[in-house]
Amino acid sequence: MSARILDGTKIRHEIETELGGQIVELKEEGVTPGLAAVLVGENPASEIYVRNKVKACERLGIHSEKIAWPSDTTTSRLIELVQNLNAQQETDGILVQLPLPPQVDAKAVLLAIDPAKDVDGLHPVNIGNLVSGRPGSVPCTPAGIIEILLRSGIPMAGARAVVIGRSDLVGKPVAMLLLHQHATVTICHSRTRDLASVAREAEILVAAMGRAALVTGDFIKPGATVIDVGTNRLTAAEEVRRIFHDPADALRQLEAKGSLLVGDVQPEDVKEKAGAYTPVPGGVGPLTIAMLMANTVRAAQRRRGRKALSHQPSVVR
Ligand code: NAP
Repeated sequence: MSARILDGTKIRHEIETELGGQIVELKEEGVTPGLAAVLVGENPASEIYVRNKVKACERLGIHSEKIAWPSDTTTSRLIELVQNLNAQQETDGILVQLPLPPQVDAKAVLLAIDPAKDVDGLHPVNIGNLVSGRPGSVPCTPAGIIEILLRSGIPMAGARAVVIGRSDLVGKPVAMLLLHQHATVTICHSRTRDLASVAREAEILVAAMGRAALVTGDFIKPGATVIDVGTNRLTAAEEVRRIFHDPADALRQLEAKGSLLVGDVQPEDVKEKAGAYTPVPGGVGPLTIAMLMANTVRAAQRRRGRKALSHQPSVVR
């Protein structure tokens, strides 16, 4: 039997519709939520991410301000910019697009953001809020993963969950959110021994390593829910042939587009073995920006002393 697809685009649409209602309510009270996006240097992937975030703001009626600075910007100039944005009344959320150029101390810049405006949820205060179950911004991709699981009716309480990857951006926060949902969580990384057998214990398996199709059928417990966070762009036909059992369709796509996006999970095996899974593209990806929008609306609500209405998937339960 083929596994159920967890459709991230559909869930994003549901979330954006709900957020739209909350933004209308804020506007009726004279408040337009505002997001400032800071981009440094000329990284093509970062430019696309920021453009998509600005577009999402436009779609939802959130005011957005894109600030693009040259690649030789210093740490102290960026901190000054962040401090000005902290003080700017119309800015509810500040997003500093990572990675920053090598001469910039990224941790110092992120630390300068007012935690109340930290819509990426990467400030140590918000990480502390997340760990201790207090309200605060939650990193967007992990929050999106929990939204997918909740809205798809995947039971988390008591479930065995395995997260592969321990980054500050994805692995650690998603493990914490799963724990808040009462899953029993194991975190794996590059030094985990016998990764496949640990992964096979999972009823919920989250793959966030950035290694194309590393999770094959022998990692997946039959019927498990598999969340594929990885985004790996293949450009060589031999890579496609190595990954796919039946590569004809994938090779056609590669030829047509010049590259092929694959996740960290083998896309044919997951259909065979999982009970449900997020596809790449169209699974976790669409939720990341939706949760950034949710964090911005929530920051706008909190800054005006309102109880945050928008998505608080799992932090306080
Ligand atoms: P990262 O910072 O590079 O972290 C990767 C993690 O995977 C590390 O903890 C690393 O272990 C672990 N790892 C690497 N190779 C491994 C292996 N062979 N076996 C077991 N563990 C291994 O990456 P990230 O920022 O978390 O991102 C992970 C993936 O998600 C990337 O493909 C990224 O593009 C994607 N992503 C997608 C979205 C989205 O919106 N769809 C958002 C964010 C990230 P060590 O700690 O031991 O090195």
